Amino acid sequence: TATATATATAADAASAACGAPCDEPLPVLGRDVTVPLVTGGETGYAALDYAASAPALQRVWDDVAAYAPYYGSVHRGAGYLSQLSTDLFEQSRAAVAAFLDCRPADQVVFTRSTTDSLNLLAAALPAGCRVFVFETEHHASLLPWGDEQVTYLDAPRTPAEAVAILERALADRDPSPGGPNGPALVCVTGASNVTGELWPVRELAAAAHAHGARIVLDAAQLAPHHPVSVRGLDVDWVAFSGHKLYAPFGSGVLAGRADWLREARPYLAGGGASRTVARRVDGGVDVEWHTTAARHEAGSPNVIGAYAIASACRALTEAGFDTLVARERRLVARIREGLAAVPEVRVLSLFGDDAPRVGVISFVVEGWNSSHFAAALSAEYGIGVRDGLFCAHPLVRTLLGSAPQEPGACDAPEARQPGERSLNAIRVSFGAG
Ligand code: PLP
Repeated sequence: TATATATATAADAASAACGAPCDEPLPVLGRDVTVPLVTGGETGYAALDYAASAPALQRVWDDVAAYAPYYGSVHRGAGYLSQLSTDLFEQSRAAVAAFLDCRPADQVVFTRSTTDSLNLLAAALPAGCRVFVFETEHHASLLPWGDEQVTYLDAPRTPAEAVAILERALADRDPSPGGPNGPALVCVTGASNVTGELWPVRELAAAAHAHGARIVLDAAQLAPHHPVSVRGLDVDWVAFSGHKLYAPFGSGVLAGRADWLREARPYLAGGGASRTVARRVDGGVDVEWHTTAARHEAGSPNVIGAYAIASACRALTEAGFDTLVARERRLVARIREGLAAVPEVRVLSLFGDDAPRVGVISFVVEGWNSSHFAAALSAEYGIGVRDGLFCAHPLVRTLLGSAPQEPGACDAPEARQPGERSLNAIRVSFGAG
């Protein structure tokens, strides 16, 4: 396939990834960036990096466009646009609660992303709270916790071992039978952004609760592929990002139990989070903070982002997860079969070949530098993949058999010679949405 270099914007690149014809001149919008552009030939460009960001659904763009002329600031006024926007914002919250099958008393807080949601929860933990997290997590789940409060758990090699490792760690924290000795939180992914493997969330939640701990589910990769039921999985919180769920960037969700959130200092202090503010006689101010989700949503909320997430939730629900899961399974089987037929390819897996997984597959090609291989896939074949350590450095190092501190491994493209053992991997990811 011929390649050409064109001046285009990031928006153009995104629209190319969504299937727009790549060999036509692209309009240049905004700030110019130079991107290598693949002509695509008959097959067009295959965007296989959904785990990073999935292209927003046309239905979502249409909903956002229909609302755009009417948008106004929420919770701020009696004017028609403000009322309409407030209504849509709160309806979006209800739609997300329904999508996640939340309990009636749960709160849905709109955030910027999964990373933001987990940092919010980290800021809301009660004093003395211990946190347990597997070393295999995405950095968004691995890093928000204070050094003094977190216990990192070793990588398990089976789902059952994950439960056993957690049980042991929680039991060590709580030696007295029947009595938890302080608040604790387990943070776990539902589906790995590296291997795509599903984690035993229900079992981990049961283990956490049996030891008086709570659990937050990082559903960034699970929610776009599988139904997530807060009630059914019995998790305390769920976090996910709009841009991985076929909505645009800039919005995310933290949903779950209200008590810790209600008691915590607002994540952001400012208008919208405060119910009343009054000057004291001593010169200071008294603030009464909201006890609803608004407590952690200070400032003018991203109402378009919330509306877009709700639109994506509705679209996925209407498409039906039974259909989507079945279709994605067929795609996963097909690509794994193709990869298995290439002797040089090694697919990375923690739980083994038979583990159930979503459409996220990472691999290395023997004798190839992963960054060069990924660049060639894009430039020569019009296949957009990701290369690197996928913001899960400890996990990818374990899977590659690298020493924990081996130099040169990072998320930036690595500069190594062909033939040298790669310290990075290649990831293809897709969805049925
Ligand atoms: N958790 C997982 C499993 C992810 O894959 C990602 C992103 O790749 C995140 C969290 C962070 O998501 P965001 O970058 O939208 O905050």
